[in-house]
Amino acid sequence: MRRGLLAFFCVIGLIGPACADTVFEFPQDPDEADFITNEVIATFYHELGHGLIDVFQMPVLGKEEDAADTLSVLLMHDIWDEPSASAILTSDALTYALRAADPAAVPDQRAYADVHSLDIQRYYAEVCLFYGANPEERKQLALDLELPDYKLDSCPDEYQSARASWDAMLADAEPGPDRYGLVMAPDQEGIPLADVLAQEVASMNEHFGLPEEITVKVADCGEANAYYTADDKTITLCNEYAQDLQALWQSQAQP
Ligand SMILES: [Zn+2]
Repeated sequence: MRRGLLAFFCVIGLIGPACADTVFEFPQDPDEADFITNEVIATFYHELGHGLIDVFQMPVLGKEEDAADTLSVLLMHDIWDEPSASAILTSDALTYALRAADPAAVPDQRAYADVHSLDIQRYYAEVCLFYGANPEERKQLALDLELPDYKLDSCPDEYQSARASWDAMLADAEPGPDRYGLVMAPDQEGIPLADVLAQEVASMNEHFGLPEEITVKVADCGEANAYYTADDKTITLCNEYAQDLQALWQSQAQP
């Protein structure tokens, strides 16, 4: 059913039970739960990249999806201590690696035309950037994640270029009395996925002040996805996306 029609029936109460969103519960296994949490955070940072590009009307040189990936890695590096940042990066990289290794996901011509780079390209790009942000501490991690030797030399420069570019774009993004922030959509408190995002919203509001408010919500979408919509300035993380991450984890977990 189209979302607009479903919303209409929900409002007039015709199909009440169908209107209640799924509540994704994190699994008991701590490694599995950490993987999902980390990937939700990395994905939120990526979607925030789209939101910042929109509300600040930033010029984007190259693929916007690549720019959003880059911001995600910069935020991992900026916000978190070393062990946590490495864990988030590793979960994000694992997601790309698993998707790239899925035999059903062998790229066809349409994948090459996609707005996103190929999963395996996204994998190496983010490992390179993250390594380049702190090469003294992260060489072993980069080697463990099989970043090719020849890339090690250029990653610090790639990081510096990404850093300078995003810093220039965000020079006017300081919090202040004439600025807005990120806000959680109403009625999301107590939803586990929304609670994860609420912490990130609070953290981001310490770093960024926006010319317009951006809303963040968890919802059923009918697809495993997360996205930013410019029309309503909203970042949506789909319940199906978390379910898909759980299935992805279980596809590689040892019995
Ligand atoms: Zn995107």
